[in-house]
Amino acid sequence: MGLNKQAGNMYPDISHTWNPLIGECPHKCSYCSTNKLRERYPEMENRYSGELRLSEKHFEDNFGGGKTIFVCAQNDLFARAVPEKFITRIFDHCKKYPNNKYYFQSKNPIRMVKYVFDFPPETVILTTIETNREIYIGHYSGGLRAKNRAIAMAFFHNAIITIEPIMQFDLNQFVKLINHNVIHCAWDDPDYDMIPKIKEIVKYIKPYKLMCYVLIGFDSTVDQDLMRVEKLEEYDISPFVMPYNKSNTYQKRFARWVNNKAIFKSVKWEDYKG
Ligand code: SF4
Repeated sequence: MGLNKQAGNMYPDISHTWNPLIGECPHKCSYCSTNKLRERYPEMENRYSGELRLSEKHFEDNFGGGKTIFVCAQNDLFARAVPEKFITRIFDHCKKYPNNKYYFQSKNPIRMVKYVFDFPPETVILTTIETNREIYIGHYSGGLRAKNRAIAMAFFHNAIITIEPIMQFDLNQFVKLINHNVIHCAWDDPDYDMIPKIKEIVKYIKPYKLMCYVLIGFDSTVDQDLMRVEKLEEYDISPFVMPYNKSNTYQKRFARWVNNKAIFKSVKWEDYKG
């Protein structure tokens, strides 16, 4: 069974991940979480090293319906080096189960445009843009131009751009690139003062278009967790908490409190009984 239940993914409504594309992702992003997992777990190193290939056992999965499935969350299905037959085979399997929603993410969304009519009927398209400054792109994500990524996203009606990690950018130019999309960003480092950047961002982007991930439990204190979510709320930016350790009682509670927007807006942390 290659379909994995998923909780606390950076996209909140994802219920499952499905990773039939294995081998080394050609993009080699400097902040790649798959590469970090490869360093830690030998089975991940085996899976995500070597030539790009498909895992046959994944195509035995019956997806059923009612799920939101992130396809190829650990690789990039639309990297130039991925053979077209891999893409169409993955689409065909997803389309056998049309009563699910599918998320596809790429650093090379310009290639996704070629398949704009071939995706499963309920699809969300995702990309990440780290900076508008092209001189940095090669270092962060293999040289795929930010401008091309933004242009490609305009072809899809259901698209999300994530600004992550927050790198150097020229906000006014950056916003021109991305302002038609829903935008996700992240405030993971509690010691990083993101307030000046937030003040700038909300000058150009309507807060309702923004959601900000907040990683807790990774070298952060309760006060730092609270400060970050309260600051975001103060600027009308919706925080979404990602617990580092999903079995830690405090982290689970804090995430439940913040991520349930009705409760977060009406109950203070010190009064929260959940
Ligand atoms: S595109 Fe995604 S999977 Fe590939 S190297 Fe970059 S972060 Fe990792």
